[in-house]
Amino acid sequence: MMGISSFSGWEVVIGLEVHAQLATKAKIFSGASTAYGAEPNTQACLVDLGYPGVLPVLNEEVVRMATLFGLAVNATVARRSVFARKNYFYPDLPKGYQISQYELPIVEHGELFITDGDGNERRIGITRAHLEEDAGKSIHEGLGASSGIDLNRAGTPLLEIVSEPDLRSAKEAVAYLRKIHTIVRYLGISDGNMQEGSFRCDANVSVRRLGQKVLGTRAELKNLNSFRFIEKAINFEIERQIELIKDGGEVVQETRLYDSDKDETRSMRSKEEANDYRYFPDPDLLPVEISEEYIEAIRVTLPELPDAKQQRFVNDYDLKSDAAAILTTSRALADYFEAVVGATDARAQVAANWVLGELSGALNRENKGIGDSRIAATDLAGLVNRIHDHTISGKIAKQVFEAMWEGEGTADEVIEAKGLEQITDSSAIETIVDRVIAANPGPVEEYKAGKDKLMGFFVGQVMKETQGQANPEQVNQILKAKLND
Ligand code: ADP
Ligand code: MG
Repeated sequence: MMGISSFSGWEVVIGLEVHAQLATKAKIFSGASTAYGAEPNTQACLVDLGYPGVLPVLNEEVVRMATLFGLAVNATVARRSVFARKNYFYPDLPKGYQISQYELPIVEHGELFITDGDGNERRIGITRAHLEEDAGKSIHEGLGASSGIDLNRAGTPLLEIVSEPDLRSAKEAVAYLRKIHTIVRYLGISDGNMQEGSFRCDANVSVRRLGQKVLGTRAELKNLNSFRFIEKAINFEIERQIELIKDGGEVVQETRLYDSDKDETRSMRSKEEANDYRYFPDPDLLPVEISEEYIEAIRVTLPELPDAKQQRFVNDYDLKSDAAAILTTSRALADYFEAVVGATDARAQVAANWVLGELSGALNRENKGIGDSRIAATDLAGLVNRIHDHTISGKIAKQVFEAMWEGEGTADEVIEAKGLEQITDSSAIETIVDRVIAANPGPVEEYKAGKDKLMGFFVGQVMKETQGQANPEQVNQILKAKLND
């Protein structure tokens, strides 16, 4: 089926290569620490430094993690995979080759599902996922005319996840990437931190005229380190290629860098200068051989995955699909929501509204994740319960929430301390209603003459007098009764 894009007459084709840093303590072939942020070259041992005569030893944890990923995306996990040497010269790669998997990767033929712009589910193929080591980093800042090399990152384990060219717009590419991001974090195999570079992506982009069978020539975009930039970079690139072809030009296969300051991509190297990596199996490492039993033992450790959790939230809690989707973007958020639901008598939808509304708002304001919430799930449930049993109105609840966020105590403590309990005493409300009617003879006249809309005004006046604490239904009832007298 033709993909839908906003570039009419053209079809966009995108395939992504994602590098997820695996969350192991030690590196893939050495015992050095992978912790982020250490002083340069303090976490690089002889293996990472590429000393001659040293031998790599595979960290088995990466095999477990890759297997877990393969099972999560419904892929084939290879019983036998092979590490190869990818030869190239660069200062941050002292060995002169990167150890990666080439012809026989550990994971092949996977898939995941995204929702396209029209709300339809789309299957995106995952060609392969292979294990490899990261390279070091060049440092240019603060060293005058010199450059430095930091090899702390050298040997950090990566899972490179390659998609089929199945994506049809920048939005779909971002949806796919978010899905991968969610999955690796659910599995606990990567922290997914984009700022620290533990989740990176290259985007291969091409265009072809609608109906054209063969794929267009692609450009590979690098340096994409946020979801927002990825979408912008791809859209810039699509327009560039379409304009180029329209003007009679041809897209050349090349690597382009995205410049977020200028919001443009520019050529980094063309295919002509491409490396010949002279791949060959690494003689220092045995093939990775795993048994069916090993794979099955890992399968039983699979957590409930985002799609399944989302569906369960829709079924069990009667949530809308998009609310369920947001609540399941991380396991921690989903767990928090379920803890609120478990501790409240209100409908799950009400709990969802509070988690996605006030709570998410407060967290975003402070740039925090759910793990840093200043209000525990059971305490938020306590607040929801007070709305549910009519102790406070939803409006007053927002005020209580703010106080809770500022550390002023539980919902009950705040309501008590601030005297926010809802006024449900009819005679008390009647007194105030009488006062409001007496103070507004003009509007009363108009209302009686048929201007029904003024009801809102009277309700507002009563609420104002009671600082929002009167029970709104009762206020309405009493006002109606008295005004229609
Ligand atoms: P390489 O080894 O040069 O990186 P691959 O064949 O492994 O090339 O493809 C890398 C990525 O590029 C994959 O995600 C693939 O889906 C994507 N891709 C391949 N051809 C095209 C194309 N014509 N347009 C867009 N993406 C493409
Ligand atoms: Mg590539």
